Amino acid sequence: MMLDAALLKGGKRVSYGARAISDGGLQSLPKLTFPGGVLVGDSAGFLNVPRIKGTHTAMKSGMMAAEAAFAAVQAGRAHDELTAYPEAFEASWVKKELSIVRNVVPLVEKFGEIVGAGLANATMWLESWSIRMPFTMKHHANHESLWRKDQVKPIEYPKPDGVLTFDRLSSVFLSNTNHEEDQPVHLTLRDPNVPVEYDLPMFDEPAQRYCPAGVYEIVGQAEGDPKFIINAQNCVHCKTCDIKDPTQNINWVVPEGGGGPNYPNM
Ligand SMILES: Cc1cc2nc3c(=O)[nH]c(=O)nc-3n(C[C@H](O)[C@H](O)[C@H](O)COP(=O)(O)OP(=O)(O)OC[C@H]3O[C@@H](n4cnc5c(N)ncnc54)[C@H](O)[C@@H]3O)c2cc1C
Ligand code: SF4
Repeated sequence: MMLDAALLKGGKRVSYGARAISDGGLQSLPKLTFPGGVLVGDSAGFLNVPRIKGTHTAMKSGMMAAEAAFAAVQAGRAHDELTAYPEAFEASWVKKELSIVRNVVPLVEKFGEIVGAGLANATMWLESWSIRMPFTMKHHANHESLWRKDQVKPIEYPKPDGVLTFDRLSSVFLSNTNHEEDQPVHLTLRDPNVPVEYDLPMFDEPAQRYCPAGVYEIVGQAEGDPKFIINAQNCVHCKTCDIKDPTQNINWVVPEGGGGPNYPNM
């Protein structure tokens, strides 16, 4: 923090945003095609997680999909799946790159940031010399990894100082987030009772903390009548709730009218 503070000294907060990354890698890739469409880039899961780099794989996968589409159009095909695209992926450097790093996240999760990171580095180094590890480790679902509130100590964060640290709502203001007011809510609960009856006693309702936009609140707890509030208007579309909610009770859908954050510098 001290190093970060020195680097940020004199800086100005100009914008705010958040985005979950898809870190499943090669062993989590879904089927890449469906009738009329393909998955490319991060939507497929082509991010190189240890490097946090994915623009190059997003571009290459887009190129491979475009070439498959071009070939289909030239051949007069319009309604089948672009199977040439996953075939091209199998033979591409994208697959090779993702294969080299495939065990990194599971190794760090299993053995920690010192031993796990050491093992991960060793496997990456060997794999980059074409010495293939004879195993591919699996991931667990992110929403299954949450500790119960009786297993952890609450972290007491200092109040935002308005210089280096900021409250969530003033930051959300800088994301220029907007949703049309009379549209159906794009954040819904499969069971409206779960947040108060299960998540609150079990996990102290984690959505209050992980949402970077303060969308989820528990009110009335001190009065003994807790209620779960969703301020959907503030959502910056990071998709964390859809991934992290322990019972997968929160359902994020695309809002109407292209609503959401609007980053002016991008
Ligand atoms: C903090 C951070 C740092 C990173 N640093 C690097 C880096 O240094 N180098 C690097 O190579 N990669 C980096 N990455 C990864 C990189 O940003 C992604 O891999 C890359 O942007 C993926 O490109 P994409 O086109 O697949 O998806 P995106 O860039 O996410 O593009 C998807 C687009 O679709 C839009 N969209 C979503 N839903 C809808 C909808 N319903 N209707 C219309 N539009 C919609 C989104 O607004 C977005 O503009 C970083 C990622 C993060 C989060
Ligand atoms: S509501 Fe969900 S998608 Fe929206 S900002 Fe909060 S965690 Fe992210």
